[in-house]
Amino acid sequence: MFSCKSDPKPQTVETKLKARAKVPVFNIDSSFSYLEKQLDFGFRIPGTAEHEATKDWLVAKFKEFGLSVKVQKFNTTIFNGQKMPGYNIIAQINSEHADRVIIGAHWDTRFIADKDPDEENHDDPIMGADDGASGVAAILELARTISQNPIDMGVDFILFDVEDQGDMGGDVTTWALGSQYWAKNKVPKNYSADFGILLDMIAAKGARFGREGYSMRDAGHVMDKVWKLAQNMGYSDLFQDYNAGGIADDHVYMNQAGIPTIDIISIPNPDNKESSFGSYHHTVADNIDIIDKRNLRVVGQVVLAVLYRHSDGTLGL
Ligand SMILES: [Zn+2]
Repeated sequence: MFSCKSDPKPQTVETKLKARAKVPVFNIDSSFSYLEKQLDFGFRIPGTAEHEATKDWLVAKFKEFGLSVKVQKFNTTIFNGQKMPGYNIIAQINSEHADRVIIGAHWDTRFIADKDPDEENHDDPIMGADDGASGVAAILELARTISQNPIDMGVDFILFDVEDQGDMGGDVTTWALGSQYWAKNKVPKNYSADFGILLDMIAAKGARFGREGYSMRDAGHVMDKVWKLAQNMGYSDLFQDYNAGGIADDHVYMNQAGIPTIDIISIPNPDNKESSFGSYHHTVADNIDIIDKRNLRVVGQVVLAVLYRHSDGTLGL
C-alpha cells in the first residue's frame, strides 16, 4: 500500500539562523579564587621570581582548561632605563574557527605606588588586586567556563605584560609595552578578530564603567552593543553612558592592530583632573579589601553573554 498522493520531499528551508546559544553562568567563587591566587604569588613585577612563577601558573591553568597556549617573550626598557623581560600569554579556544573575538587584560602589577597619599610608600610596589588581578581572574574563569560549554566561535584570550610600568605624567607610549609589542608582532602575522574587549580594573568597590574615549572613537559600534546588552541584563548601575575620557590602555594598540576593541575600565571620577580612577589607583591600598565580588561577577557574566550572543549571531556585530 502506498498513498496516492505524491510523497512530498521533506521541506527544508535553507536558513542561516543558528539556534540560540545558552549563556552559561559565571562562577564568582571560582573567579575570585583566581584573583586571590595571583595575590598569593606576591607582586607581579616583570623581572622578578614572583612574576616568573605567576606566568608559569597562568600558562598551566589555560592548558588545564584545554586551551592552546603561546607565550610571546620580549625584552623591553621602561621609562627609567630599567630593563624588563615581558611575556604576553595568548590562549585560544577553537583556534581554526573563522569567527573570532579577543578578550584582553594586563597581568603585570605596577612596581611603584607613586600615587599613594603617603610619600613614604612611593617606592613600594602595589598588590594590584584590581589593577591587574581582576581582569585576569575574569579571563581565567571565562576560559574555564567556555571550555565546558562549547561555543560555535573562536575565542582568544591575551594577557599582556608590562602594561603598568609607565611614566606618570610623562609620555603615554611608556605604558602598555606588551600590547605595543604584540600589535607589531601579531601571532599569527595575519591575526584578526571581529572585535575585542579589554578588561582593566573591573572589580573594585564603587566601580563604574563609562564610555571610554578611545573605545568610542575606534570601536563605538562595539561599545553600543555591549553596553546595551549589559543594561538590558539589569546592570546599568555599572555600565553607564557618561563620557569617561580617553585612557592610554592596551586597547589603543589592539585598535591600532586593526581589531575594534573597547575597554571595560572603572573610571568613577571622570571630572577629576588629578585622577579619574578610584582613590586606590597606584597606591598600596589596591589590595583584596577593595574588591567587590559582585562587580567581578557582573563583568564576567556580561562578557559571557556577549560571546555566546555573538556566536549565535544575535548580538548584531
Ligand atoms: Zn595601573
